[in-house]
Amino acid sequence: MAKANEFVKDIADINADFPQWYTDVVLKTGLVDYGPVKGTMVIRPYGYALWENIQRELDDRFKATGHENAYFPMLIPYSFLMKEAEHVEGFAPEVALVTHVGDTELPEKLVVRPTSETIIGHMYSKWVQSYRDLPVLVNQWANVVRWEKTTRPFLRTSEFLWQEGHTVHATREEAEDETLKMLGVYEEFSRNVLAIPMFTGKKSEKEKFAGAEATYSIEAMMLDGKSLQSGTSHYLSDNFARAFDIRFLDKDGTHKYPFQSSWGVSTRLIGAVIMAHGDERGLKLPPYVAPIQTVIIPIAMHKAGVLEKVNEIKTNLERAGIRVKVDATDNSPGWKFNEYEMKGVPLRLEIGPRDIESGVATVSRRDKAGEKFTVPLYNIADSVNLLLKEIHENMYQTALEFRNSHVKTVQTMQELGDAVNSGNFALSMWCGERDCEDKIKEQFQASSRNMPFDQTPVGDKCVCCGKKAKHKIYWGKAY
Ligand SMILES: [Zn+2]
Repeated sequence: MAKANEFVKDIADINADFPQWYTDVVLKTGLVDYGPVKGTMVIRPYGYALWENIQRELDDRFKATGHENAYFPMLIPYSFLMKEAEHVEGFAPEVALVTHVGDTELPEKLVVRPTSETIIGHMYSKWVQSYRDLPVLVNQWANVVRWEKTTRPFLRTSEFLWQEGHTVHATREEAEDETLKMLGVYEEFSRNVLAIPMFTGKKSEKEKFAGAEATYSIEAMMLDGKSLQSGTSHYLSDNFARAFDIRFLDKDGTHKYPFQSSWGVSTRLIGAVIMAHGDERGLKLPPYVAPIQTVIIPIAMHKAGVLEKVNEIKTNLERAGIRVKVDATDNSPGWKFNEYEMKGVPLRLEIGPRDIESGVATVSRRDKAGEKFTVPLYNIADSVNLLLKEIHENMYQTALEFRNSHVKTVQTMQELGDAVNSGNFALSMWCGERDCEDKIKEQFQASSRNMPFDQTPVGDKCVCCGKKAKHKIYWGKAY
């Protein structure tokens, strides 16, 4: 048997060195590896399976809200980027350019997409002619490239996977509704699938998407009290429609510019899952996206009948739609316990001769490590499904309580600094001026996260300049 604290050797102490813990966990659980080009990542099978589960859940929700998938080219003419002034300013410093094919210089350099508003805008100008063509509700699953200076697997990488929704609407109201509807989809998905409570709200002018009229975000609190912007939904107004000359003939016989939204989440969500739920043993994966939901460890598997029974149970669970793995390798049970705890598998079943004799499996929940109990083998799939549901709910409640206890309402710069420097979000009133945002960034390396929809005031003066406040806003250190 393995020693009780064997896991401590594998990964750094989560309380002493959170960044090192994160690096150890992503590498040692086989989620990811570094690519040969600095800033790139290789998503390994265990990480990719997690992404596929995230994708499937989101894709179902996009389809249920009327969207269709399409695919646009990765290469975009450089001139497209120049058409929307703010957009080019925001993205130009980090775009990768293709200038040559072999030894021949291209007549126009090409951009490897950092996002696809421009190329999609160009195509929409051909496809949208009449009010009958609207709304256009399209989503793309793709990779994008942004040449970042500092990178970390999943959180910030030069190339990442994401989805980007791009919609076109006849009216401003419809496009605004769509923007908020998809923010709501992200929030619901995060809560019901990832077990992560999100702060939803509007970004400041400084933090909004380059080219948008308004950006809304979901912000998750990580276990070190930092914020991870986990998804954004942009109301683009008619900015890109004007830049790309998308016009439609309306019912009244006049040509009009339509209104657009775009929204995206990425492989960053995997980082959110890791840092919102992990513990000293490693990953703690939410059941509905865990690549392995239940691992079965046969005990004394050389004894007659053990492996047969284990495989029978595996089949039962698979028939009930549960993702299950049997580890029948010759590693010791203790090694296996540590391994699957580190990998964050929500539920572990141990089945040995004594369990079989009693008609039970010995169960251990990842969210309550150390506790063991038994469930009857009869109807085991129902018991497992119920346990997975309970684990999800417990993980969500734990994350919610952690988050709620790490938000400090503040009235002064001193209080704001104390809050964000000791692993909290600060909630304050703000005048709305960029100067105050810059000052807070400079003094405390904290940025505005978002302005909640519930704007019930917590004071009347800006936390920074003391002038009359316009907004209630969250501040935090961010990834
Ligand atoms: Zn101010």
